[in-house]
Amino acid sequence: MLTMDDAHTIVPGGDVLVVDGRIAEVGTALTVPDGTHEIDASGGIVMPGMVDTHRHMWQTAMRAYGADWTLTQYFVWYYLQYGKLFRPEDYVAGNLISALDAIESGTTTSVDWSHGLRTPEHGWAAYEALATSPGRYVFAYGNIHAAPWEWTADPEVRKILEASRDDARMYGTQIAFDVSDQDENFPELAAYRAAKELGLRVTTHAGVWGATNDWGIKNAYDAGVMEEGFTYVHAASLSAESYQKIAATGGNVSLATESEDTCGQGYPPLHQLRKYGIPTSSRSTRASGRAPTCSRRCVRPSTPIAPSSTTSRINWSRPRR
Ligand SMILES: [Zn+2]
Repeated sequence: MLTMDDAHTIVPGGDVLVVDGRIAEVGTALTVPDGTHEIDASGGIVMPGMVDTHRHMWQTAMRAYGADWTLTQYFVWYYLQYGKLFRPEDYVAGNLISALDAIESGTTTSVDWSHGLRTPEHGWAAYEALATSPGRYVFAYGNIHAAPWEWTADPEVRKILEASRDDARMYGTQIAFDVSDQDENFPELAAYRAAKELGLRVTTHAGVWGATNDWGIKNAYDAGVMEEGFTYVHAASLSAESYQKIAATGGNVSLATESEDTCGQGYPPLHQLRKYGIPTSSRSTRASGRAPTCSRRCVRPSTPIAPSSTTSRINWSRPRR
């Protein structure tokens, strides 16, 4: 049994006692109440569920389609063409399949980077699908089909954000958007402010070669809206100054090494993240639409590298709130 505690304790032949869905005790030869249902896992490994800090669950409706695409092919298909055809029920299907796929791969907690919510109906459907799927989820609400300063101002969207934020079935709610244009007027500032008003963290693809780069970090830093616990996805093509800004404001980075190595975001910047002491976690990005093997390959326990704020909030023995 791998406890994944701070001492990296391994308990050969250990027991885990679960009472009412929560871990009550861990040890060897535990005394358990009469009638306890026993699962014999001898010969296997018992360990905490893995955490995926960035997963586009809706895309799993397409299963492994696009697994070998470059980022450009991905953008064209999902952002410009067929992504717009997804109906609310397609989101429900994608989220549920992705949830089962994650569990099957040992991932019990995911940040769902749900960035195709082009109508409030899509938003409600995606949210309810997460809340009723097995596993724990952070609902990162996004809409690539509208400007972030527009959809975050929509009263109907705010209703969904407030409902999911206050829903004990969810592990959290975040605002998901990118700063993709080099614009000194920084219109995305309104989206950062919406997050602040709602008391939500921001997760953003920052440092994706050719798509989001230093100017997004510069704009946000200069406006004073980079806050502790915000997540910067990939962070693969940033300057030293941008890493310093992420570190100085308490941000964390979500890596997807398999995706970064094959799609074109830039190579995983782990050496930079270690250099600047930025908490780092890993996830499967659009791999959620791929075969489960990718999740197994890409998503690892947080122990080998410092956990992000998302992962650090999650203790494997801590009950779901
Ligand atoms: Zn992504």
